[in-house]
Amino acid sequence: MSMGVKEDKPNTPKKPFIYYYTIMMVVLMALNLFLMPMYRSSQVTEVPYSTFLDMVDQGVVTSVERSDDEIVFLVKTGNKTVFGDDEIAQYKTGPWPDNNLEDTLRSHKVQFTTPIIEQPSALMTILVQWVVPILLFVAVGQFMGKQLQKRMGGPNAMTFGKSNAKIYAESETGKTFADVAGEEEAKDALKEIVDFLHDPQKYADIGATLPKGALLVGPPGTGKTLLAKAVAGEAKVPFFSISGSEFVEMFVGMGAAKVRDLFKQANEKAPCIVFIDEIDTIGKKRDGSGMGGNDEREQTLNQLLTEMDGFDGKKGVVILAATNRPESLDPALLRPGRFDRRIPVELPDIKGRESILRVHAKDVKMDDTVDFTAIARATSGASGAELANIINEGALRAVRMGRKVVSQQDLEESVEVVIAGYQKKDSAVSEDEKKIVSYHEVGHALVAACQSHSAPVHKITIIPRTSGALGYTMQVDQAEKYLMSKDEVFNKIATLTGGRAAEELIFHSITTGASNDIEQATKLARAMVTRYGMNDQFGMVALETVNNQYLGGDTSLACSPETARVVDEEVIKLVKEAYKKAMEILAQNEGKLHEIAAYLLEKETITGDEFMEILNRKEETKTESAEHELVTE
Ligand code: ADP
Ligand code: MG
Ligand code: ZN
Repeated sequence: MSMGVKEDKPNTPKKPFIYYYTIMMVVLMALNLFLMPMYRSSQVTEVPYSTFLDMVDQGVVTSVERSDDEIVFLVKTGNKTVFGDDEIAQYKTGPWPDNNLEDTLRSHKVQFTTPIIEQPSALMTILVQWVVPILLFVAVGQFMGKQLQKRMGGPNAMTFGKSNAKIYAESETGKTFADVAGEEEAKDALKEIVDFLHDPQKYADIGATLPKGALLVGPPGTGKTLLAKAVAGEAKVPFFSISGSEFVEMFVGMGAAKVRDLFKQANEKAPCIVFIDEIDTIGKKRDGSGMGGNDEREQTLNQLLTEMDGFDGKKGVVILAATNRPESLDPALLRPGRFDRRIPVELPDIKGRESILRVHAKDVKMDDTVDFTAIARATSGASGAELANIINEGALRAVRMGRKVVSQQDLEESVEVVIAGYQKKDSAVSEDEKKIVSYHEVGHALVAACQSHSAPVHKITIIPRTSGALGYTMQVDQAEKYLMSKDEVFNKIATLTGGRAAEELIFHSITTGASNDIEQATKLARAMVTRYGMNDQFGMVALETVNNQYLGGDTSLACSPETARVVDEEVIKLVKEAYKKAMEILAQNEGKLHEIAAYLLEKETITGDEFMEILNRKEETKTESAEHELVTE
């Protein structure tokens, strides 16, 4: 990973342990000397008691200190010191039961005392016995903590405040949108944020507040982290990042402190980006029950919510978060004023895959004959991270084979390596399956487009989704709709059955891929009969009531068992009719069905405009569709 310039560090001392240790030793020794003056002189000569008496008689003893177990005395040696006085030596001897010693000493004019052993003051005792060891422990602890952080954090980690939080700060991420291939929709959505960070004042002047937070949602490896960095890089603002999973390992109370630190720092450095990766680990739905560990997560989440509400949106702090499990997020996080902007970061389509391959191939020596389109075609369902990996694996293989450039074959081999990985993950889609999926999706789209009162097709895609869907057709109403006529509901059911109808029409066999369609169609048909009063036989009688609008909209029957049976029959009849209608529409437009399905198979994603363009093109020839039929059978 290449990251940008490091921020100036707050001056954390980097003195080694030995430094503190030396200081401690010096202090202790000084105290010792101070408290025990008796031992200041180093040389004490021990002599017999008789020698002591002799010396007293000779008159060389100048002073005597007498204690219970010894007598220490000073003796003039006769040598002159440089300052002119006699040099004094220290002697000692054992105590002697000598009752006349006092008189003897007096007669020789020797000073005598009992030793003055200074009692260390109470303050000193406390200092030596308590404060110093505690200080020592603290010093060692801090030192160890710092070492640990250094080891965990790597060169780019820096710490703020007292929480020991691992917050990464980069003054320049060095990434731009050019490093992110494809993902045009996500980039477009983020461009406004870049503009805001460039010049927050412009927005403040007009009184506009940008959303405080945006949530990048998508499967792993699609470039969410990369996009967040690119936003900071494009806007040339500092990038603070923290990963949700780090909170989990922490001690109680640390998570909240970390969040507080993060926002404090960000506020000082505004305009800047705060990026919370893997936010689902702290932002999971809160439920009353749960074990102790949950408390910590909840505290962290609450702190995050508080901070998000607390800071001034005009200042230019933008919070980005990434998750691949948006459905598990606590709704409080998604409220307006928090992460109310959701930016989907999807798996790349064939074009996206090709450009991702090209971006990563830039730094690798590639053979001129390498066909990226072919590689992109073979990697349906691969994420950006996996594509980057394919290029790297290819380069490694080239080195293994002793070549100087990466060849097509290297790439194909590494695709296989990675594809084998995919199959484990159930997301590989074979060519045959892709074909069925494209007919299925185009079936939906065609039925929708050929009926009146149907929302226009916005997008059709056969890129597999992590949710398990192999493709989908997106219809977007021009305006928000609250009411639906009976025809519209019926047409919607027909559209839902269009996928299955296309499968049957073209392949004369049906797959499990329509289960979700069937469920939705049944629900709608049922609602027509039991709740919307759209069935001639029952008219305006509510046969079902909705239990709770906000919790899944469960319904319960409110009719007799016989009526329930009739309801079931009516529902079946309705869906069958709709299916028949869809079948008719598709049979009439079979040429278009082939044409668009083939186009979709190639492009993987097509827009509503492209779809309409092909649909409205003059029917080319009947022969072409006949040809297709030959191929499929
Ligand atoms: P996510 O955060 O979504 O799991 P990352 O941003 O960590 O994914 O992506 C991992 C790596 O995959 C990136 O560092 C980059 O090398 C590569 N990558 C993913 N998506 C793209 C993309 N759209 N363009 C270029 N590289 C990509
Ligand atoms: Mg990531
Ligand atoms: Zn379908």
